[in-house]
Amino acid sequence: MFKRAIAGTATFFLLNGVAHAQLSETEQRIVAAVKQRTPAALELLEKSVRINSGTLNPEGVRAVGEIYRAELDALGFKTRWIDMPPAMKRAGHLAAAHEGGQGKRVLLLGHLDTVFEKASAVPLWERQGDRVRGQGVNDMKGGDVIMIEALRALKSVGALDRANVEILFTGDEERTGSPLQTARADMVSMGKRADYALSFEGSAKHDGVDTASIARRSAGGWVLHVKGKPAHSMGVFSAQSGYGAIYETARILNTFREQVIEPSLTFNPGLAFGGTNVSYAEDTATASAFGKSNVIARDAEVLGDLRYLSPEQGERARQKMQAIVSTGNLPGTSATIAFTESYPPMPPTEAGRKLVDIYSKASLDAGLGRIDILDPSLRGAGDVQFVAPYTVGIDGLGAQGRGAHTDDEDLEIASIERGAVRAALLIYRLTLQPSR
Ligand SMILES: [Zn+2]
Repeated sequence: MFKRAIAGTATFFLLNGVAHAQLSETEQRIVAAVKQRTPAALELLEKSVRINSGTLNPEGVRAVGEIYRAELDALGFKTRWIDMPPAMKRAGHLAAAHEGGQGKRVLLLGHLDTVFEKASAVPLWERQGDRVRGQGVNDMKGGDVIMIEALRALKSVGALDRANVEILFTGDEERTGSPLQTARADMVSMGKRADYALSFEGSAKHDGVDTASIARRSAGGWVLHVKGKPAHSMGVFSAQSGYGAIYETARILNTFREQVIEPSLTFNPGLAFGGTNVSYAEDTATASAFGKSNVIARDAEVLGDLRYLSPEQGERARQKMQAIVSTGNLPGTSATIAFTESYPPMPPTEAGRKLVDIYSKASLDAGLGRIDILDPSLRGAGDVQFVAPYTVGIDGLGAQGRGAHTDDEDLEIASIERGAVRAALLIYRLTLQPSR
């Protein structure tokens, strides 16, 4: 029933021998417009990836924003740069609006920053056949380009003219600025007036099927401080000298692992350091420690995260961790833990399921297969969670690749075209729906 056909360099599927049988004539023109731009879309991606835009590199984040801003200006969007207070040390955000006056209001979300800071040794852009390795290629400049190319295709057939579309590219998705209420104020007000929110974070495959997310777990953090008594190591384990900060840290982390784990909940110590003297530089995420093997450690610190699907689950985890930290301390030690929540949890909803149905239908109609709903434990947190309380949001409309946030982050180049076709059709169908 399905026949694979090769046309030029693009591979697509014919359904019962007729390409795009389920697409209207306008939709077929939208798909053609996306495909025509495929080489140019990759060039746009390369241009934006070749600029380092680690969250703590505001110049780089703004420079990437300028590239996307020019594209959106050309599509008739009203664009503006939203500055954050200087004390926040974040670049700010790029906002864009297209007021067509008809149909449902759609909010599109992307981010300009990456986890790769200036000092990163990861190459900015390294082409490897039909893949690219590089900083933020799939998280999420690939998704940003998918969004822009989808809009460009709609514009080219006149389908954008009457659409109500707002866009926010944040500059601090990977390390959200503080205070959070300020950093996400514009996003929340955009979410409140949107009927739908589509976020273009990386798209995951599960069991060979492409997926989208309707639920995402919270992201929060914790910092563990442990104190011991500095003394000669020969006295360790004695009542007078105690066990030191490092043994106590090991006890706490191991007890977390033994007692706090439950489904959909994770907590990961990402950085641990201890010794006689320790310090941590927030702006470079770098710890330093001084100590000697014959001295009992006085200080230890651990930075970790905490992810949960509902507020109740988060509260339960925090209470258990707090109890482990403040009771049963090894002799001569004490410990405290502090928690933060940066992303509120986004529980699954029926409206989210229906939105994925529309997305999946658009993908099937274009011959690109169905879209399943991704298990929320398989992905981290994202900006869409800030608007989830006010609108119907889905995430994962972006590019596909491997190893996001690692030195090996890469991108399957063909996923740009695939994502742009699906997104263009989805946005087209949503904005055709009559407004409230
Ligand atoms: Zn991301």
